[in-house]
Amino acid sequence: MTNHLFDALRAAAPGADAVFIETADGATLAYGDLLARTAQLAHALASFGVAPGDRVAAQVEKSAEALMLYLACVRAGAVYLPLNTGYTPAEIDYFLGDAEPAVFVVDPEAERALASVAARHGARLETLDADGQGSMAAAADGLPTRFDDVARGPDDLAAILYTSGTTGRSKGAMLSHDNLLSNALALKDFWRFTAADRLLHALPLFHTHGLFVATNTALVAGASLILLPKFDADRVMALLPRATTLMGVPTFYVRLAQHPSLTREAAAHMRLFVSGSAPLLAETHRAFEAKTGHRILERYGMTETNMITSNPYEGERIAGAVGFPLPGVSLRVVDPASGSPLGPDEVGMIEVKGPNVFKGYWRMPEKTRAEFRDDGFFVTGDLGRVDQRGYVSIVGRGKDLVISGGYNVYPKEVETEIDALDGVVESAVIGLAHRDFGEGVTAVVVREAGAAIDEAGVLAALAGRLARYKQPKRVLFVDELPRNAMGKVQKNALRERYADLYAEAEAS
Ligand code: ATP
Ligand code: MG
Repeated sequence: MTNHLFDALRAAAPGADAVFIETADGATLAYGDLLARTAQLAHALASFGVAPGDRVAAQVEKSAEALMLYLACVRAGAVYLPLNTGYTPAEIDYFLGDAEPAVFVVDPEAERALASVAARHGARLETLDADGQGSMAAAADGLPTRFDDVARGPDDLAAILYTSGTTGRSKGAMLSHDNLLSNALALKDFWRFTAADRLLHALPLFHTHGLFVATNTALVAGASLILLPKFDADRVMALLPRATTLMGVPTFYVRLAQHPSLTREAAAHMRLFVSGSAPLLAETHRAFEAKTGHRILERYGMTETNMITSNPYEGERIAGAVGFPLPGVSLRVVDPASGSPLGPDEVGMIEVKGPNVFKGYWRMPEKTRAEFRDDGFFVTGDLGRVDQRGYVSIVGRGKDLVISGGYNVYPKEVETEIDALDGVVESAVIGLAHRDFGEGVTAVVVREAGAAIDEAGVLAALAGRLARYKQPKRVLFVDELPRNAMGKVQKNALRERYADLYAEAEAS
């Protein structure tokens, strides 16, 4: 047997001297270096006693070495388990208890803070940093630069990736070698990646977007990565001349569209701008196009399914839509209650099936069973619709749907109206328990500094624009919306914070 994922990556490597990674300060790492370094790190893992299927957890800052660790795990037959660098030791305690990794790799500076957590869960603590320092790096340095990859089949696990924790506690998604490979190959073709591409990579390496979508797609194309430790609009603009493509989340594009150096000329050489992970506002889509002439290509996916849809490379990229299912991926929209398929333009639950869909939630067999239909479709939890032409749009999360007086209110529709008002930065619309309506539509709004808009102003502006049942019962103002480490708004936290809003009103 062979190593399903790494064999394909090795075969795609354009040559030992071809550049794989350029760092922001101009250092380069060739494809030959990638093979040599991942071999050394894989030997180190084997010397620690890591056996096929063992989990190797890592909480490390983004670097070329961190990327090598992921690939070394693939080669060593281990299951890579990257953890958000924003997690506190108390959060890490939960993840290590859940995943029981054999090894836990951290940055040298974090070693002291995490030693007792690792010890409590029986994980061997190792260190690694951007400069290839630390105990594991040192152990790897003298080891051979060739490694016999551990045999792994298409269905063997390559990674456990925890979901972002937007709707509740993060769940470990078990991803197989073929989940990752099939998706990378599909994206490479769909987005026309070649060895001539240089992908500007400013996303974190602990999330599906930066670790798999960006990295694996570049690898199967033999392309190179320009690695930025984190997003910074000035640095992205400075590196743009060296890039051909950029993958980002909506906030990247909001910031870039406001950047004085972003012009048509500055972006003229670029081949592709991709956005995903959260809804891209039509306003951002338009602003970016007005400045650059490029239409951002929006795509949709999740930790559990890898990428599901993409707007077309050629053909119309529609603002507010996420495009078509990737080749090999089946998508349907069903009535959430009955499960029966809905027609064009009808809003329902999005379900998907294909080689991209994960193997289940780690140590949550019941949750896994509950989220799969009998015919193998995975229930995404996202509500959406497919139009006559086959474009998919995401309407919002099922858990965020507000049912007020028996009517469905899709928060995104209300948020879009509020966000367009003068003086509003952003908003989150939630449903809160209400004696008369079941749930009361409630808007939580962030104002621009010094803006005069108030509750009455928002309500008056919406009165002519939205049907009565969609209009908020209350508008609350906050300094900022609660977000998780991926920058997504946590509506759960808002619902908890204001749970008694209408009960209080009734009592008073
Ligand atoms: P958790 O499952 O722990 O609550 P999460 O769902 O935010 O967290 P991820 O897997 O990182 O964790 O995010 C996937 C979700 O992100 C999708 O289910 C969808 O709701 C949202 N999403 C991704 N891409 C888009 C997009 N282009 N437009 C709208 N929503 C998107
Ligand atoms: Mg989710």
